[in-house]
Amino acid sequence: MSTEVVAVSAVSAAQQPSPSTPTQQNAVEKVNLLGMSRPQMEQFFEDMGEKKFRAGQVMKWIHQFFVTDFAEMTNISGKLREKLEKIAEIKAPEVVHKNYSKDGTRKWVFRVGDGDGSLVETVLIPAEHRSGLRRTLCISSQVGCALDCSFCSTGKQGFQRDLDQSEIIGQLWVANYSYMEDVPVADRERSVTNVVMMGMGEPLLNYDAVLNSMRIMLDDFAYGMSKRRVTLSTSGVVPKIDQMVKDIDVALAISLHAPNDELRNELVPINKKYPLEQLIAACQRYIAKDGNESSRKHVTIEYVMLDGVNDHPEHAQQMIKLLKNLPSKINLIPFNPFPHAPYGRSSRNRIISFQKTLSDAGFVCTIRQTRGDDIDAACGQLVGQVADRTRRAEQWKKKIAQSNEIMRSQG
Ligand code: SF4
Repeated sequence: MSTEVVAVSAVSAAQQPSPSTPTQQNAVEKVNLLGMSRPQMEQFFEDMGEKKFRAGQVMKWIHQFFVTDFAEMTNISGKLREKLEKIAEIKAPEVVHKNYSKDGTRKWVFRVGDGDGSLVETVLIPAEHRSGLRRTLCISSQVGCALDCSFCSTGKQGFQRDLDQSEIIGQLWVANYSYMEDVPVADRERSVTNVVMMGMGEPLLNYDAVLNSMRIMLDDFAYGMSKRRVTLSTSGVVPKIDQMVKDIDVALAISLHAPNDELRNELVPINKKYPLEQLIAACQRYIAKDGNESSRKHVTIEYVMLDGVNDHPEHAQQMIKLLKNLPSKINLIPFNPFPHAPYGRSSRNRIISFQKTLSDAGFVCTIRQTRGDDIDAACGQLVGQVADRTRRAEQWKKKIAQSNEIMRSQG
């Protein structure tokens, strides 16, 4: 694929400050307003002795006009702006690397924390849709991940820490801002149309920060996104799915990847704690929850296609049985191999045949288009260019060979 890649190193990014780009150096510890939900910002202004409505005004400047300098917030009195300058700031995580692919995919690597070198990734994938151009941003919620899914580049890095609200919402802020750096403030518009909490980390294990960040995404004073366009993707932390159902109405995706407990225990180890029966029951409770114009009409099932591992015809039959009472849409994801990955991508024919089996059984089943291959757009891949610190890759190659041998001998 011919590619036009723009790569910005930490050094060159630091050498080109923009007046509206959040700065990284502040002598005094200031409160970062970027990640505050509306109730949190209202509390902040009340604590300052100011009126609550200031929160909505400032949030609009931050999230709709992408202004980070209080001096540009013209509907706020000069006195209050001066006060804010002294105690607060609007600071997104530092971009240390960015790649823009010719197919429109954009990817950022952020340094988060205080110089501890933690990196997270964010990927934006555009796609034509009947309702117009969709720009879907895949947001990370943790540095690394503790859940250790065997096919996942992020899982190999282990867990380092949770992201805070400003680091989560900051990814959305930067992605939007990337389309309007040169646009006058009055003409700025949000460009990202959809968000999936599906980047690095398990979002339900960083619950409060993710919940408040999604509230900012839905808030009309911030991004004003439709609840159907904000999706939380989980590997299956069952109690937190139930908690989320009570707290917020957004779309739900499940990283299923295996249709039986034995295989899922290997691919997605949290399955040992919350097996499929419990997970499917939680999804049914999510669907059953009432709500005005609820987004809870179906659950999206994500299924990564691993060559010779979970792509046999019997796996498709098991999926049909497993999901028969769950309104769901199935998304088959061709595996994106990374260095030392213990798996390969299923062949195109195998994926199409798997899709046909599910479609014939009445499921809406799509195959995810692979995008941004030229910029390592799969979750955790750029950051995850680390040596596999375990011997899991070798162990898995052996297991796959054994299982294929058994299937062959059974005819
Ligand atoms: S697939 Fe998701 S939950 Fe599993 S290790 Fe990777 S980031 Fe964590």
